[in-house]
Amino acid sequence: MTIQELHQLFLNSSGICTDTRKITKNCLFFSLSGDNFNGNTFADQALTNGAKYAIVDQEEYKTNSNTILVKNSLETLQKLANYHRRHLGLKIISLTGSNGKTTTKELINTVLAKKYNTIATVGNLNNHIGVPLTLLSMNKDTEIGIVEMGANHQKEIAFLCKIAEPDYGYITNFGKAHLEGFGGVDGIIKGKSELYDYLIENNKTIFYNTDDEIQKNKLKHYQKTICFTSTESECENHIKLIEVNPFVNYSFNNTKVESKLIGSYNFTNLCAATTIGKHFSIENIDIKTAIENYIPNNNRSQIIENGSNKIILDAYNANPSSMEVALDNLNKLSDKTKIAILGDMFELGKDAEIEHQNIADLCSKFNLNKVFLIGNHFNNISTSDSKIIKFQTLESFEENFIPFKNSTILIKGSRGMALERILKLLK
Ligand code: ATP
Ligand code: MG
Repeated sequence: MTIQELHQLFLNSSGICTDTRKITKNCLFFSLSGDNFNGNTFADQALTNGAKYAIVDQEEYKTNSNTILVKNSLETLQKLANYHRRHLGLKIISLTGSNGKTTTKELINTVLAKKYNTIATVGNLNNHIGVPLTLLSMNKDTEIGIVEMGANHQKEIAFLCKIAEPDYGYITNFGKAHLEGFGGVDGIIKGKSELYDYLIENNKTIFYNTDDEIQKNKLKHYQKTICFTSTESECENHIKLIEVNPFVNYSFNNTKVESKLIGSYNFTNLCAATTIGKHFSIENIDIKTAIENYIPNNNRSQIIENGSNKIILDAYNANPSSMEVALDNLNKLSDKTKIAILGDMFELGKDAEIEHQNIADLCSKFNLNKVFLIGNHFNNISTSDSKIIKFQTLESFEENFIPFKNSTILIKGSRGMALERILKLLK
């Protein structure tokens, strides 16, 4: 079957399914395989559950006329997504970076949705499966697609660009995330910049932050850029930070915006969404309203009022860069009693020891009342600071827990640490 023929079946279907527990009637089921399972074994079940066709890539699973045999189901899904993207001819904005992709993607989407039919990546579906699924969730009414691209090694972003063929791009930042897979900071810059490489090669537009030296340097010879800044004069989108207390308030074009996002790191994310909104001719007042109505979720920089305590729940993920900015934010708050409960940062490879030590040293330097460090890596740091208390496991922290009162508490760690569990104790 050619990709055109498969695309026709797709257009006549109710969409793509990859999980037999979430079949929608008349969908096109793709049997994707992982390290521990063979997706082909679910094809029959998918058809029984209501899928119109099932795509398989092993001959023995081609059991009836509604199973379609292809060479490789995943590659077929990716090719179909690219074909569909071309067929729709809509504008795609892609974003990548070490931190803040999902937040920025949500902000851009909420702003652009004021005027356009948009579809954005759902949640964090930003990899070699998520990007195709995002593209295939777009339809003929979609005017702008906003596609988050994640990566933990080289060539991944280049590959995702080939599938999504973005018209516009933005890199949130180059920070220390997935150090291990990228092979150090230079590796991260190279890997994330694959988005720039694609856009430059294809003469597409890049949004960037002139306050970020790496971005500025990388793009100094490229013309098709739209910049934003909070400091420099040569850039047309001037956005002024008013305060972070604890929410970020800022202004652009004489419009004051009171966001529900905390931490000065979110100012950059807000600037990007504001600049992109302006580029796509969204009215200032609509940008303001869209952003003021956006409330973060999924444990990303959420503020939770909890009895006499205020919790900054940032347990969604952590890496050295995002940990640093989150602590810096806590340090700057004028609240009286400030506590940090931090969990291990994963995927740091040989840098794990030094990066955890750096965070512990930062905690010592900062104006915090108590710091709890949880996990194998944090348990290995050395400190003589009596405000720092180490626990090897979350269980040992829970067992020794003494409740706090009238405190501002930052909770942050890698996803695998699942520190949101602590919320139960604080209640
Ligand atoms: P993932 O790699 O899991 O997809 P992401 O890049 O999508 O992450 P978000 O989910 O938006 O990032 O945010 C995760 C956390 O990163 C936030 O809760 C916050 O601590 C931190 N963060 C967000 N924006 C920035 C930024 N611009 N700079 C540094 N840290 C940030
Ligand atoms: Mg994300």
